[in-house]
Amino acid sequence: MTSPSRPDLLHRLAIQTSEREHANLRRRLRTIEHAEGPWLESGGRRLLGFCSNDYLGLAQHPQLIAALKRTADDEGVGGASAHLICGHRREHAQLEEALAEWTGCERALLFSTGYMANLGTMQALLGHGDACVQDKLNHACLLDGAQLAGAELKRYPHADVDAAARQLQSRPQAAALLATDGVFSMDGDVAPLAKLAALCARERATLMVDDAHGLGVLGTEGAGSVQAAGLGQREVPVLMATLGKALGCSGAFVAGPAALIDGLVQFARPYIYTTAMPPALAAAACAAVEIARGENWRREKLQSLIARFRAGSAQLGLPLMASQSAIQPLLLGDAQAALDAAQALEQRGLLVTAIRPPTVPQGQARLRITLSAAHEDEHVDQLLDALGSHFHGHAQASGHDVTGSR
Ligand SMILES: *Cc1c(COP(=O)(O)O)cnc(C)c1O
Repeated sequence: MTSPSRPDLLHRLAIQTSEREHANLRRRLRTIEHAEGPWLESGGRRLLGFCSNDYLGLAQHPQLIAALKRTADDEGVGGASAHLICGHRREHAQLEEALAEWTGCERALLFSTGYMANLGTMQALLGHGDACVQDKLNHACLLDGAQLAGAELKRYPHADVDAAARQLQSRPQAAALLATDGVFSMDGDVAPLAKLAALCARERATLMVDDAHGLGVLGTEGAGSVQAAGLGQREVPVLMATLGKALGCSGAFVAGPAALIDGLVQFARPYIYTTAMPPALAAAACAAVEIARGENWRREKLQSLIARFRAGSAQLGLPLMASQSAIQPLLLGDAQAALDAAQALEQRGLLVTAIRPPTVPQGQARLRITLSAAHEDEHVDQLLDALGSHFHGHAQASGHDVTGSR
């Protein structure tokens, strides 16, 4: 006998997808046929990209490619096992050592993705009855991690340290983790890390920083936002960062005291029950760490491109957000306005993604522009020209200034 009232899951999903379509919020995949520096080929067209997270321009560096090829020749492609079985290779061990040294932490542990690193860390540290206090604009996987752990998730308004304090004080007896992005992924601003560290010390809470967008870009030798804030393992005992952004590879790690790393190996299910990253990738990431630390000119070039873009945007009266990082979003508000702007830029040969809810809060759709040391001054000028002509044309047609939409 069939049940006439049971909802059909695929049908329900299709309805939800079409609702997104009606709200201008449907996401679409785009196939990139070829990538070369900041240039991307898509649909047979060559586009200048301002949306990758390859902030130091390392993804196509010959030394990374050579390390990957050499290790693949010697060791093959897949590691073929989880770390705890027979998948933990010399390349992983070397990379973990290099990452610990770079970030000034006792130990580091590799994860296959940043998403899994955050899930695993929170699930190992937290349980039912614990409090997990988080910035409202934290990356989705930090929020998911708290939920997976079964902790009580308490969010505070963006960068509001007093509100974070109230959240911690509302559960004075509970074990507590305060987790924040170092550099916020959709806004580009830096968390008030020194104040959060002082708060955590006062409240005996543990501070966790997700530095996916800070590592390689901020701090001495690119050691990240924690080091740039004058903090270290003592104040931030749980540091997570990815290898897929400024390091141009893929994967992630958690760094901290030996007790943290030993515990993650025992209890972090997204670490234990998954295949280790390919050893050749670990070798490439090792080469990336060396270049990222040593080649300061990449950070200097990136900073000069950021300054050029901000000066030009200010001159054009564009709705720049207060970011000094490689993430330079233009806040447009309306999802359709963001889509229109992205489309107009694409017609001029530029690829910039419109970021819409639920990735960002309602009414805060934006163009997430990212800069990279792979860009040149004239690329930034090209972007500014295209933005100027789109927004000035748009402002005349609709009779209002884009800067009014903030
Ligand atoms: C990209 C990102 C992640 C996820 O890292 P992946 O390696 O891409 O899974 C986690 N946190 C932040 C802040 C990120 O930007």
